[in-house]
Amino acid sequence: MTESLFRSDSYLAEAPAKVVFAEPRGIALDRTVFYPQGGGQAGDQGVLVVAGAEIPIVNTVYDADRRTILHVPAAGADLPAPGAGALARIDWARRLKRMRAHTALHLLSVVLPYPVTGGSVGDADGRLDFDSGEAALDKADVERRLNALIAADAAVSQRWITGEELAANPSLVKTMSVKPPTGAGHVRLIAIEGLDLQPCGGTHVARTGEIGYASVTSIEKKGKINRRVRIALADPPT
Ligand SMILES: [Zn+2]
Repeated sequence: MTESLFRSDSYLAEAPAKVVFAEPRGIALDRTVFYPQGGGQAGDQGVLVVAGAEIPIVNTVYDADRRTILHVPAAGADLPAPGAGALARIDWARRLKRMRAHTALHLLSVVLPYPVTGGSVGDADGRLDFDSGEAALDKADVERRLNALIAADAAVSQRWITGEELAANPSLVKTMSVKPPTGAGHVRLIAIEGLDLQPCGGTHVARTGEIGYASVTSIEKKGKINRRVRIALADPPT
């Protein structure tokens, strides 16, 4: 099982670790700052520095056991020996944008309090699908309300509850298509002070103000009652 350092501190850009095994399909470390693909968020990219040489990592995924994190090396890269020390360093600029976009999606689910049926986070953008019924969604109005929440600069924090506590509070789960992350009977909740509380395993910024500005780029009809809302990090309108 890989220790997930990004869970307790999403701002860690690098950390020393030890190689557990290394295969062309993936390199496992005892601990890592690399976020594995999941929950609609892409896997991190970056490098592993071993004996002064950089091994490019093109993706990060869970192994079949869902407990071991695999750093997928670039094709043909030299593989380190088990037991070797490695400095794991993510592409921080890319991850920070994903953290900003991901946190903006939490706020979007506050602006549009409908059941979420799907979603994904890109490098500087993201989308959520809502069962919004027949409600008319106005792009400019959604963008204005979203950015008011961003500007509120609310603190983002996490806490863990038991699976039983979550089962007793089913309204916490907004996302019908993504099962909340559970580990050893516990579920991770992400709280945005005074605004939102929901289970999530992804990486977030510490305050909503760090998102900066998010534009609503499109609202599409995806069936009778489903709406797909896309947002993107942007410069504030002048
Ligand atoms: Zn999240």
